[in-house]
Amino acid sequence: MAETEKVKCLIIGSGPAGYTAAIYASRANLHPVLYQGIQPGGQLTITTDVENYPGYPDGIMGPQMMLDFEKQASRMGADIRWGMATKVDLSAKPYKVEIDEEKWIEADALIIATGASAKWLNIESEQRLNGHGVSACAVCDGFFFKGQEVAIVGAGDTAAEEALYLSNLCSTVHMIVRRDEMRASKIMQERVMNTKNIKVYWNSETKEVIGDKKVEAVTITNNQTNEETTIPIGAFFVAIGHKPNSDLFKGVLDMDDAGYIKTTPGTSKTNIEGVFACGDVQDKIYRQAVTAAGSGCMAALDAERYIGELEHAQQAQAANH
Ligand code: NDP
Repeated sequence: MAETEKVKCLIIGSGPAGYTAAIYASRANLHPVLYQGIQPGGQLTITTDVENYPGYPDGIMGPQMMLDFEKQASRMGADIRWGMATKVDLSAKPYKVEIDEEKWIEADALIIATGASAKWLNIESEQRLNGHGVSACAVCDGFFFKGQEVAIVGAGDTAAEEALYLSNLCSTVHMIVRRDEMRASKIMQERVMNTKNIKVYWNSETKEVIGDKKVEAVTITNNQTNEETTIPIGAFFVAIGHKPNSDLFKGVLDMDDAGYIKTTPGTSKTNIEGVFACGDVQDKIYRQAVTAAGSGCMAALDAERYIGELEHAQQAQAANH
């Protein structure tokens, strides 16, 4: 039979939301166990400078910030473990979460902080060449294409930030934008437009990434004129947004159409009592490190209150016997 362990408070996910929940839950004596998931540190580990997180007046690199969060959670006593939640059973208390398909954790309270993941275009050539020059993380993989021409698709803040990052490494960055304007903030757009080696292709969509074993070019189509252009490149970066990592809870927790877990406004409570959600898995609007951290704090406080009430009820029941 698979191994089972019982904890008071289980946290899954290790971005700003998960680690902040761990800090607060530790300080509240809930002895939280946190499983880091497939990408310890979450999305901030694939970004560069974070300039908008209060408390870092000179900015901080995303991966370093997540190491700081982890260190702080550990120092407070959180039990931080490598591992991935692979199944859940929330049909009865205590709630059960399977880790790495091999062991089960039973928890009185569950905090879901599984974040969001990069979206893909879902064209055959993009999938086939993934890891061979196709990437959703310029900061992770840009270095391998130093001095080469590369392309990036997307027009939000992520695409703008990554295009700027790549412009410092690569000879030319071809930025493929599907409309005649960008979604990115004004300041980021200005930076992109003022960078000489970023070339923007407006109203353009990716038809195919060309290459047999590695990326060699990309063919784009102008959606106004239908004109096709093939651009020789060494790498193709995709930066078109994110999808919440909530698949594990489909059919169990209430979600919106895009898969974001629904919480009661002003709280981290899901439709199952004792199950809380925080960070990007439940936030499609703000999606900032600081808002994720704030919601992680809320989840831990909600869990603390819930566990307190649960223990009180259990003690009262025991006294009646
Ligand atoms: P966004 O959802 O903001 O932008 C996604 C972009 O990808 C849009 O321009 C969209 O085009 C484009 N896109 C989506 N699907 C396709 C497709 N199939 N083909 C081509 N293009 C496509 O995501 P981001 O990841 O950029 O940003 C997410 C949030 O994080 C935002 O709120 C952003 O402000 C924030 N952020 C902040 C940063 C900072 O402050 N330093 C850095 C990075 C992100 P269209 O516009 O036509 O819909």
